[in-house]
Amino acid sequence: MRYISENVVPALELCILNISMKDLALQTCDNITTIRWLAQHGLIANKLVCKKCRHPMLLQARKGKKVVDGYIWACSKCNGNKSIRFGSFFDRSHLSLIQILEIIYLWSLERTQVEASKQTGVSIRCLRDWYNFIRDICARYLTDNPLEMGGSDRTVEINETKFMERTNRRGEYKPGQWVLGMIERKTNVAMMVPVDNTDAATILPVIAQYVRAGTRIMTDRWTDYSALPRQELTNREYTFVASEDSANSVKDSWDLWKAKFTAMRGNKDLNFNSHLQEFLWRRRIKDNFFGNILYWIRHYYDVFNLVKFDF
Ligand SMILES: [Zn+2]
Repeated sequence: MRYISENVVPALELCILNISMKDLALQTCDNITTIRWLAQHGLIANKLVCKKCRHPMLLQARKGKKVVDGYIWACSKCNGNKSIRFGSFFDRSHLSLIQILEIIYLWSLERTQVEASKQTGVSIRCLRDWYNFIRDICARYLTDNPLEMGGSDRTVEINETKFMERTNRRGEYKPGQWVLGMIERKTNVAMMVPVDNTDAATILPVIAQYVRAGTRIMTDRWTDYSALPRQELTNREYTFVASEDSANSVKDSWDLWKAKFTAMRGNKDLNFNSHLQEFLWRRRIKDNFFGNILYWIRHYYDVFNLVKFDF
């Protein structure tokens, strides 16, 4: 066969993909159904052209230790072959496609690495790698879709918090991580950025990156920031005002953010920034994390680009 699936769903359909874990398991019960499911959803190449002789490749069943998926792309002209995972998010892994899909599903449900390891039978070490690969997708999304908040007539509350790291088993001290939190009042648009210090020289460029000029910025340290010469504000102008104690709504949502993030991350895993990217991604995406992460995987691993000619 020159293609795997007769139809490939449009990318946007992934965002609204609503599938239970049971249905996913039914639709991906063996190698070939999983391969078809992935090709149908644009997550692996549906067809491939031989790089050497430009011949369309054929999907062939193949046995052997090296062929994890039971199928490969083979060229009938030059005997060349390629993994069916070629160019995809699933490339270069010894796990089965079923296992990887299951891991993505469990990640989308916010299962811990320990829970996901038990359920899939995949080692914690390998599972941690996959959770990190998924979080890399979140990080790329956030870089490519930068958030801006504030503007004239708007107020952004900023807050510096240190997230403590638990000391490790040997009792060694870990320094913790400063995070600058910014929340726009009324809309609750929010951002958290890890920072090395909390001095004005460090904080102000971060604010300038996310908060529009003309914004009223509320902070406990307004005297520190407003005392700076104007040129330090990289040509953006803000009005700094002292936080109001009555600003309970903002305080509540900031505390809620901190609590949620701490709960999600636990404080065992030291990969702070990676967890923060996941947290922010979930905040932006809001729901249907399985379909949406697949959408962004498809976006960043564009398997359609692999086919230069249409046969
Ligand atoms: Zn060939």
